[in-house]
Amino acid sequence: MEKVTEYFGSMVFDERVMKATLSEKVYKSLKRTIDRGTPLDISVANVVAAAMKDWAIEKGATHYTHWFQPMTGVTAEKHDSFITPAPDGRVIMEFSGKELVKGEPDASSFPSGGLRATFEARGYTAWDPTSYAFIKDGTLYIPTAFCSYTGEALDKKVPLLRSMEALNRQALRVLKLFGNDSVRSVRTSVGPEQEYFLVDREMYKKRKDLIMTGRTLFGAMPPKGQEMEDHYFGSIKTRVSEYMADLDKELWKLGILAKTKHNEVAPAQHELAPIYKTTNIAADHNQLTMEVMKKVAERHGLVCLLHEKPFEGVNGSGKHNNWSISTDTGVNLLSPGETPYENAQFLLFLAAVIKAVDDYQDLLRLSVATAGNDHRLGANEAPPAIISIFLGDELTAILEAIEKDAPYGGTAKEKMKLGVDVLPQFSKDTTDRNRTSPFAFTGNKFEFRMLGSSNSISCANIHLNAAVAEVLKQFADKLEKAKDFNKSLHDLIKKTIKDHKRIIFNGNGYDDSWVKEAEKRGLSNLKTTADCMPKICDKKNVEMLTSHGIFTEAEIFSRRDIMLENYVKSVNIEASTMIDMARKEIIPAVAKFSSDTASAVAVKKSVSKVACKYETRLVTELSALIDEMDAATSALESVVAGLKKIDDVMKQSAYVRDKMIPAMEKLRAPADKAETLTAEEYYPFPTYDKLLFGV
Ligand code: ADP
Ligand code: MG
Repeated sequence: MEKVTEYFGSMVFDERVMKATLSEKVYKSLKRTIDRGTPLDISVANVVAAAMKDWAIEKGATHYTHWFQPMTGVTAEKHDSFITPAPDGRVIMEFSGKELVKGEPDASSFPSGGLRATFEARGYTAWDPTSYAFIKDGTLYIPTAFCSYTGEALDKKVPLLRSMEALNRQALRVLKLFGNDSVRSVRTSVGPEQEYFLVDREMYKKRKDLIMTGRTLFGAMPPKGQEMEDHYFGSIKTRVSEYMADLDKELWKLGILAKTKHNEVAPAQHELAPIYKTTNIAADHNQLTMEVMKKVAERHGLVCLLHEKPFEGVNGSGKHNNWSISTDTGVNLLSPGETPYENAQFLLFLAAVIKAVDDYQDLLRLSVATAGNDHRLGANEAPPAIISIFLGDELTAILEAIEKDAPYGGTAKEKMKLGVDVLPQFSKDTTDRNRTSPFAFTGNKFEFRMLGSSNSISCANIHLNAAVAEVLKQFADKLEKAKDFNKSLHDLIKKTIKDHKRIIFNGNGYDDSWVKEAEKRGLSNLKTTADCMPKICDKKNVEMLTSHGIFTEAEIFSRRDIMLENYVKSVNIEASTMIDMARKEIIPAVAKFSSDTASAVAVKKSVSKVACKYETRLVTELSALIDEMDAATSALESVVAGLKKIDDVMKQSAYVRDKMIPAMEKLRAPADKAETLTAEEYYPFPTYDKLLFGV
């Protein structure tokens, strides 16, 4: 057995390889680009490209690709081989600095939301040297950003990098006020916990809904679901554990710090968590992780489902975005330390996050909005669609004390900078656990729990970073002008807590009473993608995002349209798949079972004068359900036809929400009922019990 320490990162052109293959001068110059973003000289790029190519060929690679993250939500790649013809009819392997730093894919087939007409098809991919190149399946992958000919971002990486830069700029201003002059950069880190389902490949292949849409569109609850709570952290089945071991190995080779794995709440549901990394690298790694998860599953006769709600009635899958801010000098700005009340700097950053989340609830909500994730948010399993912050009792009490200028705790004697009497000691675990909060403080980081399992983490982090950058800017503007820094700081924290404490909620987010309470507090509750996505174009959001250079106004409007189009298309494909399955599979199967049962009655009656009560009742019930399914299918067909007549995407999305989704539910109900009455051998595809317990 190879040792993990030996093969970890073996497919990555990382610092180790750079040092070994580049001259000291070239290495230093590349490092400057990586660490400080200084532009890379083309002569240096040429040397780096040649070294990358030689290393990749040594590892068996024949091709290279610029790897990017267009707005489709999945990654894109176009492979070119290294071959170049030589005069003698043979080939040599070449890769230039120009090919490394810039690519020109035809951008017209990627969603741009009207940013780019087809006649201006050119798009550019530009090397992101802060994320290492790697080899996968015989190809050298170069992480890149993707933009249009005129420089508009067409991907998720460009705005993510811009948002990190914005936060860096504003955080440095604030740190300077506290006398932190040695800090040169501030970065956010993310550790995304990834949930997923595994199902048997042969069963999967029999279900059009899973194939076409990634989720089951029909299916009655099995006799056993997750009510026994025996799956969470349960012992892992051999087949699954072999899959997980294989997955770890593949991820480790790619330098991905896969760390934790366990069974999740629902049957067939699992989780993988890596060790956290700088946000843009975490985003790249999470995209790669999702790809590798699917690939490795094939080798094990499995399919990995990353849809947010593959099965109705059991938990869906999310992704928890553990997020922190830290300095290049190694200080986590969200770490309270032993005595957070002393730590005015911590309290200021905490206040900034609280205000940011309150001011930009809508942006955070829409950053995770997809048709798939709408099934989770607000259902009784995931955080609600309402954004709130969990702080835990201790921090909440400290903030209350600050707000009221009251002493915190009973034995407090010291008078601190903030003018609050405080306890001399602070307990180690500053927070208890709360699983229902969408945005929970967990000791030295925030865990944003609303992300869907298939979401790119980029969107959530773009908006989170941007919102926090904006508040830090407001704070810095104020404090830089202050005559008495300590007093202004105290007043600012106090006022921020007072103005934004409505967003803090330590109770049970799944409780119905919270919905009412949140409404009273004036918090927004945007239930669907159609409701929240248009808010990105609200004046306050456009102003904020453009002022920090995260997006241009055109980019914002284009993103709204792309996300809404995606929502409309996803639901429309689901509706069409339902029609297809109902007409060609479910109705005929149930009808056949029903007519076979009816013929049995005739046979039985010809033999003796039995009443055939069972058969009669069954046939009557099934016939009614068949009629109901038929009518519901026809109704859904006309709703689908109706969508084609609407051309504005905003109206389309409202139509999908108000007409199409309800029509789909109307068809599903009788079909699921019929499934429970139909003999197993007649049913055309594997049912929930087989899918959920079949691995
Ligand atoms: P949980 O108990 O919430 O399920 P896990 O161990 O599954 O915790 O995941 C926690 C995640 O948080 C991991 O990815 C971990 O690396 C990440 N994490 C830990 N500390 C930080 C930090 N300071 N900043 C960002 N992420 C962090
Ligand atoms: Mg976890």
